[in-house]
Amino acid sequence: MENHGTKNALVIILLGPPGVGKGSQAEKIAAKLHLPHISTGDLLRENIKNGTDLGKKAKDIMEEGKLVPDTLINEMAFDRVKHPDCKEGYILDGYPRTTAQAEVLSKHLGSDANIKVVNFFASDKTVAARISGRLICRKCKTSFHREFKKPKEEGICDKCGGELYQRPDDHMDTVLKRLQVYKEQTEPLIKFFDQKKLLKTIHCEKGMDEIFNETLDFLK
Ligand code: AMP
Repeated sequence: MENHGTKNALVIILLGPPGVGKGSQAEKIAAKLHLPHISTGDLLRENIKNGTDLGKKAKDIMEEGKLVPDTLINEMAFDRVKHPDCKEGYILDGYPRTTAQAEVLSKHLGSDANIKVVNFFASDKTVAARISGRLICRKCKTSFHREFKKPKEEGICDKCGGELYQRPDDHMDTVLKRLQVYKEQTEPLIKFFDQKKLLKTIHCEKGMDEIFNETLDFLK
């Protein structure tokens, strides 16, 4: 992945099961460190919305809770990080998600890249409860929860007034599939990055601010 000659670009990789709160933490880190938040899931959903070839290929796979093929994802991610806003660094949320993706990414970044990996952890029970009650704003993508973070007005985003919806892959049956896929295909990355001494695990069964402060301490 090209860094436009900025060798010291900070590449923050967020690992963790679906529903652990990666996206919400990514937003906070992005605002604090002035780095773009790149979510491959969001990029794919944009492609689906816009009816692109990639979107057409990804739609059914995503709705089944499986992973989109590595080659498609790598190309999409590489295209995104070439943008000038990534010059000083960027936050990768949901990428890499397989060992093959991590190897391609590591090779492109090179051995002297400034990479920091945060591994957000919570129990299966916690993430399943968080994810199956999750509601997302169609406009600004802020997430709410039916029980734990209710919007002031039902079905309406507090921030921008947009419509809240449940992602098709956040229904319980697909959530269980996604958790299984995470364990099989993404969890090995914890070891992959830990062996390179790039990773810190943060336990996420506590308040968002506490999680955020611990994350920032590691990233500074
Ligand atoms: P997310 O929004 O990160 O939960 O991603 C939603 C879905 O998009 C996943 O369940 C996958 O189907 C697909 N996806 C996102 N990122 C990747 C990736 N790095 N590799 C393969 N599939 C991905």
